[in-house]
Amino acid sequence: MQGSSGHLVVVVGAGPAALYATGKLAEKGHTVLLLNRDIKPGGLAEYGIYLSKHKMKEGLRKQFRQILASPRVIYFGGVQVGDAGAIRLSELQDLKPSAIVVGAGAQGTKSLGVPGDDGSHVYHAKDLVYHYNLLPPFSRKEFPMGNRVAVIGIGNVMADIANYLVTIRKVPEVLVVARRGPVERKYDDREMRPIAWHIDKEALQAELERVRPRLEPLGQDMDVQFKELTKDSHVEPKAGRGPTKIKFRFLASPKRIVRDETGRMVGMEVEENTLEERRGQLSAKGLGETTILPVDTVVFAIGDVVDLDLGLTPVKGGWGYTTNPNPDPQDAAAAGYQAYDPQAEQLLDGVFVIGWSRNASDGVVGKARLDGEKGAAVVSRYLSQRPGLSRREIYHRIGSIYRRVCEKAAPVVHKGLWRILERIEREEAGKRGLEEFKFATNEEMVQSIQETVKTRSDRAG
Ligand SMILES: Cc1cc2nc3c(=O)[nH]c(=O)nc-3n(C[C@H](O)[C@H](O)[C@H](O)COP(=O)(O)OP(=O)(O)OC[C@H]3O[C@@H](n4cnc5c(N)ncnc54)[C@H](O)[C@@H]3O)c2cc1C
Repeated sequence: MQGSSGHLVVVVGAGPAALYATGKLAEKGHTVLLLNRDIKPGGLAEYGIYLSKHKMKEGLRKQFRQILASPRVIYFGGVQVGDAGAIRLSELQDLKPSAIVVGAGAQGTKSLGVPGDDGSHVYHAKDLVYHYNLLPPFSRKEFPMGNRVAVIGIGNVMADIANYLVTIRKVPEVLVVARRGPVERKYDDREMRPIAWHIDKEALQAELERVRPRLEPLGQDMDVQFKELTKDSHVEPKAGRGPTKIKFRFLASPKRIVRDETGRMVGMEVEENTLEERRGQLSAKGLGETTILPVDTVVFAIGDVVDLDLGLTPVKGGWGYTTNPNPDPQDAAAAGYQAYDPQAEQLLDGVFVIGWSRNASDGVVGKARLDGEKGAAVVSRYLSQRPGLSRREIYHRIGSIYRRVCEKAAPVVHKGLWRILERIEREEAGKRGLEEFKFATNEEMVQSIQETVKTRSDRAG
């Protein structure tokens, strides 16, 4: 292992971007302190990737364990950074680590802001994803579903939500609502394959006939699209056949959630769209005609935005935190990772952003990894021009951060305790004959850790 660089980097978050960045930073000899909102590391790899992808999740956990095993890496789980958290970003800056890297993902929810979307039975995909993946406190929230659930959006997250609605909630109907047409769908066919058997072919044929006059003049062949969309519909669902029919509504933009006098949702009004070419891309253009779709639940799967409370300024639209608009000609690639304060019109010296905090909802784990590792290289270049700290100074700063966060985050789950938790959950899964077992609340996690620690110390003493 390379000798110590004399630098302490505080990394906010422990999702894929933060963890892969940590791996590279530790390799360079930097001491890394991870402050993670969730007790367990992994971010969306732990709490986002679909339930049935056990192999993929376990493969990622294995890599994350290796990164966290480095003696240069210190982990504090259960510590949220930000105005509502255990420590503010500005307080962290005051405690003078050599650099701060924000890899906190995109924790805000994106809404279309249509009238009625703040009432019951309207959900954001990420909240639901966190719920079924058992992330506290979403694990214990209720998400009542009606019989006809509209999922807005047509990307991979829609496919996961549809999978959950088909396989676990077994709702009678899922209606996928897309602004544009079938050609512009964003999901990867592999993600729909497990539930393609549930696509209602008759309804799909009728829907493609409905939009044919608007799309065929653009050279889009609806017969080809039918074949494409149903090519896996013969695949027997591994989870068994259920009652759900999956339908599609193309060229539709939500305008209003329609509720009766009691506030119950009775439909969603959508505007009909056509497609027009803008800057080499087909964009949706409203036609002014509206239709009410008879749905009783709506899930928005249209991407996420960054958290407003973290202490960094989001770009317009919330698709990431603001980064340096004035790149150094000697190191232009670094600018995209350097946090910037647009009010003060200056760089936040020593603060960097990576992963979905930089580009919300952008790509899969591989992309977050690449971004984290590129960001780590930028941070290492920055640190190579700064004086280092003594070992004593590094541990003094870590101690100060620990004391500060302990005042508000109770209790902080460090690496050793997280390992105990992993073991308890693994044993519990074995006992119950499950692929995996997760405690659904932070209290249960902490209690089970404390009981194990106590049993061990009773035995030892
Ligand atoms: C529903 C869904 C399904 C997906 N399925 C797949 C898939 O099958 N395969 C695949 O490769 N990719 C998948 N992805 C994409 C993948 O999960 C992301 O690319 C990746 O997780 C982004 O990494 P990140 O580290 O930037 O953010 P995240 O994974 O979101 O990690 C953010 C981390 O920051 C922490 N945090 C948040 N706020 C704070 C704070 N204020 N203070 C301290 N810590 C904080 C969180 O606890 C978390 O640990 C999926 C994404 C979603 C939403």
